[in-house]
Amino acid sequence: PPAIKKISEKYDKVFVTGCLEPDTSKPRANAAFVVLARNKELDGVIQSMKSIERHFNRWYNYPYVFLNDGDFNSTFKDTVKNYTNAKVEFGKVGPEMWGFPEWIDRKVAKEGIAKQGDAAVMYGGLESYHAMCRFYSGFFYKHPLLAKYEWYWRLEPEIKYFCDITYDPFLQMIEQNKTYGFTIAVKELRETVPNLFRYASAFKRKNKVASQGLWEMFVEPQPDKEPEAAEDKPQIPEEITRGEPGRNTPPEIDYEAMEGEKYNMCHFWSNFEIARLSFFRSPEYEEFFQMMDRSGGFWMERWGDAPIHSLAAGALLGPRDIHYFRDFGYRHTTIQHCPANAPARQLPREPWLEKTTLDDRKRIEEDRYWEDYDTPKENGVGCRCR
Ligand code: GDP
Ligand code: MN
Repeated sequence: PPAIKKISEKYDKVFVTGCLEPDTSKPRANAAFVVLARNKELDGVIQSMKSIERHFNRWYNYPYVFLNDGDFNSTFKDTVKNYTNAKVEFGKVGPEMWGFPEWIDRKVAKEGIAKQGDAAVMYGGLESYHAMCRFYSGFFYKHPLLAKYEWYWRLEPEIKYFCDITYDPFLQMIEQNKTYGFTIAVKELRETVPNLFRYASAFKRKNKVASQGLWEMFVEPQPDKEPEAAEDKPQIPEEITRGEPGRNTPPEIDYEAMEGEKYNMCHFWSNFEIARLSFFRSPEYEEFFQMMDRSGGFWMERWGDAPIHSLAAGALLGPRDIHYFRDFGYRHTTIQHCPANAPARQLPREPWLEKTTLDDRKRIEEDRYWEDYDTPKENGVGCRCR
């Protein structure tokens, strides 16, 4: 929406322009990389570490926190340590942060998950994926190994950075008073979140949260449409939350209040995130998470942590709190963000919603292109990309 664009131009400039020698003179922020992974993902983790070390961390040496619902084996631990000089910690995610909470009716939940599998909802049939999304939505920031940190940078297996990051993004975010940073915003698969927005919207309504201008980023404008019919209610059956005696009251939702507001499916792609942990640790975020969680939607639907984080930010933050790392070259699987003026990227783009999907053949071509590409870019943004 044009209003957001104007605000983003005003509040959200790139932190640093031009090619720089990495500036390591200032003390580090209180921050760490957070990597949730399994032993079998070691190769992908190494790829990611090589990339972030080469383009950033060899100068800045931020520590890593590896988390796993299982135990990391010694191969994983020893290998990972070979790829960085920084401190590395390994933590286990306990059952209180992973899997079904005790108040969930497991039978209903498992049936719900199987149904999503049958309906070919992406990852919908995988119980572990649901657990992972819920963990990243409501728990990672409560893990004991993260208690000492104020900031985190999320890393995943098989990601790639292709521009040198020659400044400290944590320090810049602190200086500019930012809370949440992203590099790609995309549209969610509708079938993974059929009812998510109703609950998020109800949270705002119930707690009388006034938008600070970011919520509108997630709302589909419907100028000439009749408000949605009131009988179009959330489909998540209440019995999902009846697994625990005495705590079987699902959140009360004012369905009427949701009329007319529709999710546009936009979200910050959370496999990259740099954010202030105090945002997630706030009572407001906790309230938001509790309400979403209590609906059973992490199991009966396949709510991703990306739309959860995004809608929480939409409800609780303003555009001035958000930073778009438009100068970070970043790829995860088939979606990437390139800051520079490659031929395919000279079209005018909506800065809040940038998406490049490439097939494999094209990706190889792009790779070759970027390997050779080492010229300062327009506006001085995106220098040293390779
Ligand atoms: P995608 O990026 O949405 O395709 O999903 P991924 O498979 O990459 O999962 C997202 C993140 O969660 C990655 O960091 C994975 O390593 C991690 N992850 C996913 N499922 C599990 C799991 O069951 N156990 C652990 N320990 N990590 C998981
Ligand atoms: Mn991934």
